[in-house]
Amino acid sequence: MAGRGVPEASLLVRRVEPNLTAALLVRDQITKVSPPPAELTQVSVSRLVNPGRAYYELTHPLPEDLAAHQKRIAGSGAHDLLEEALAAGVQFTELWLHGEDAPGDPPLDRVTARLDACEMRPDGRLSPTEIKNVGTEKERPADEHLEQLGMYCALMGVEEGRVLAVHRDDVSGRSRLLVPWKVRYSDLALVRRAMAERRDLLTEAFEKKDASRLPACPWWFARCKYREAGICDCGRREKLVPVIARSADIERDPAYLELLQKRAAERSAERSEEDAAVRLTLGSFLTPRKVYFAARRPPETSPEPDGGGAAPPASPGPTEQERVEKSLARVNTRGVERQVFSAVRRAHGTRYEMRSVDRDGHSWKVPVVDGKPFLVRVRHVGRALGNSSRELTGNWGVPDDLRQLALRASLLGAGEARVYIWNWKLADSEMKLQVFDVRFEPPVLEETRSYLGALPQQLESALASSDHRGLPLCPRWMCPKCEFLSLCQPDAG
Ligand code: SF4
Ligand code: SF4
Repeated sequence: MAGRGVPEASLLVRRVEPNLTAALLVRDQITKVSPPPAELTQVSVSRLVNPGRAYYELTHPLPEDLAAHQKRIAGSGAHDLLEEALAAGVQFTELWLHGEDAPGDPPLDRVTARLDACEMRPDGRLSPTEIKNVGTEKERPADEHLEQLGMYCALMGVEEGRVLAVHRDDVSGRSRLLVPWKVRYSDLALVRRAMAERRDLLTEAFEKKDASRLPACPWWFARCKYREAGICDCGRREKLVPVIARSADIERDPAYLELLQKRAAERSAERSEEDAAVRLTLGSFLTPRKVYFAARRPPETSPEPDGGGAAPPASPGPTEQERVEKSLARVNTRGVERQVFSAVRRAHGTRYEMRSVDRDGHSWKVPVVDGKPFLVRVRHVGRALGNSSRELTGNWGVPDDLRQLALRASLLGAGEARVYIWNWKLADSEMKLQVFDVRFEPPVLEETRSYLGALPQQLESALASSDHRGLPLCPRWMCPKCEFLSLCQPDAG
């Protein structure tokens, strides 16, 4: 019979209280605009892609509501995660480029760039790979992406680079990897001239606070906030001509995708050889059976728990491609979680800390704010949460997150915790970001603490006897799509 794991949220929670002050603090952090810089010492490649818009971003930073920020923070958070997900396949990641080091004429001083990734070519030179998160799937990369990649090529002095695009669906929040493009820029001198000219125009406009000589944005910003605010008027100026994009030769590069997947699979095999032991994260305590079956890979067969005939073969596990696709599927929501987490950290200064806890040979890290362990979750339900514990622990609430919080609280010996909830589907309102302080029932929290100490041993025994049946079940909503369903048989017994 399955053992008892972390108790149900409805048993754990004694009281919840909305915390509007904490919500406003984080909201202000997310929507805060930086003041204009005193001078423009360096100009990033991303500003040179569209200097008309960059001018207004530098000189007239405008606040935006949370709904407008969702797209931006999902984009930047997702981009970071994509880099991590794809880093297993690309050769090098995160490289800083400085125009002073770029070969050729005219000089590109003061131009800087941060490259997502790059590859070593057979001739020993590096070529850039730009990772893009695109909302619409098209026949060729967007002009602004081609312009950006061309500038990286010029800074590195190579004619060829790649665009690795991930299609992001803002409504469902799911993402999919597209076949990469190989892009060739045969006239690097043209690219350098365009970069130097845009850098000089932007610097002059910034110093004189006069945008009249800057080209207007070439891409139609239907709801450009600078136009809506009456600060900038596209119609009066010539549009920027994307000469770099027009000079690019493009072809699909499926072989690059295969190469990335092959490398990622090799590196993942190396990692699992190095790390054969069961790895427990705090999240694993809610899914002990998944941990068990994952640790049993890759045995071909396993004896039946009762010592009977041959057991069904163990699952071979997801391929590297499936693993990457799976991690991409949630990349937008995880991106938002990461960005809200970062805003919580920044908003609280020294009232935020990452506490290390060593227990039973394991070392855990628990983020704490105002003395309470916390977590951030994105919720995809089209209405806000009410303020009762019944709401939070119910099916439309965040029951498993509360159980996760209870684990963290019991680890720290705290009786309270905090949850930051980002309501993805709500338009901007007071309810887009909700914060609740949660007080737990002490005896049930104690039970959670005992489970925390007991599970490592339970897992070890289960693995030694090849019998998972005494282990607690994972949250039942996970079972229908679980890769271990046929082995686990959660409804048996
Ligand atoms: S108003 Fe037009 S030119 Fe000005 S920033 Fe917006 S899109 Fe660009
Ligand atoms: S079938 Fe359910 S209980 Fe079993 S491992 Fe999968 S998710 Fe966990």
